[in-house]
Amino acid sequence: MSLTLREALASLRVVAIPMRTKFRSLDLRETALIKGEYGWGEFAPFIEYSDQESLPWLESAIEATDGPLSAALRESIPINATIPASNDEAEIAEIISWYSGVNTVKIKVGGSIGEDLVRIARVRSHLPKAKIRIDVNGSWSVNEAALNIRTIYGEATGEFLEYVEQPVATLDELKELKSLLLVDVKIAGDEILRKAKDPFAIDLDGAIDVLMLKVSPLGGINRARDLASHHELPVVVSSALESAVGISYGLALAARLPKLDYACGLGTSALFAQDISDIPISDGVIRATNYPIDLDRLERYEMRGERLEWWRNRITRVWNLRRPA
Ligand SMILES: [Mg+2]
Repeated sequence: MSLTLREALASLRVVAIPMRTKFRSLDLRETALIKGEYGWGEFAPFIEYSDQESLPWLESAIEATDGPLSAALRESIPINATIPASNDEAEIAEIISWYSGVNTVKIKVGGSIGEDLVRIARVRSHLPKAKIRIDVNGSWSVNEAALNIRTIYGEATGEFLEYVEQPVATLDELKELKSLLLVDVKIAGDEILRKAKDPFAIDLDGAIDVLMLKVSPLGGINRARDLASHHELPVVVSSALESAVGISYGLALAARLPKLDYACGLGTSALFAQDISDIPISDGVIRATNYPIDLDRLERYEMRGERLEWWRNRITRVWNLRRPA
């Protein structure tokens, strides 16, 4: 039986989870959980997202509640540490300490190149052997990207740089950058896929080398897997800063991909002061399993009243955008 809107709303719980460190300028991550026959699903579009952009997020939540998972192909998922856009030395050291045994670090950049270089150097001073990936969130122009990537890569010392994620915003810019790049650095695409009107319709040939796969914004495990095979690119499964429910679903995706060559960005639970379930990181990996909700914590972080009403209305509006099955 497929979940109905009534059942989704009857099961709805809204939580606001305090962040341990600011990320995306957030102190609190507000998100919604719905429950169906097969357990919880997470509906986690950021507050400012439109109803239309939130639709795949809802499909992902519904899919999670609605059917059994296929057999997993692997048990443990290697992960990267995630460093927000901060140059606070103590904060960087502390965040790295949350990621036990991790040898890949994703660093948010794209402010001033001077500060970006300092941030990268600080991370490397703690983890000199780590692979570094930087995420620009599309904020550079093509020329800035070509110059900045070369600067970060340095003089023949760039082997540490695993890839640059979404250095520029559009498909044309990504293609142009590829033709200008003087150094051998892989380019990963994130927004180019998850913000596309139809992520199957874009031609990523000659634009990117690695695809970011995020289960919620891409509409669930089945669609994300289809997108990976459609685009025939190596993938990195990453979170959209979901709670343990959404992370469990991302881990389920990572465990079900035929190939997984890169560490995944699924360790973002460490950025919360306390998640609604503990997701331990050891030796740089997370076990791909369902992390059941701690009900005491769910109550501790639960929002009622106006926030619950807001999410009820949002889910109802987005549900009504679904195409009839
Ligand atoms: Mg990204």
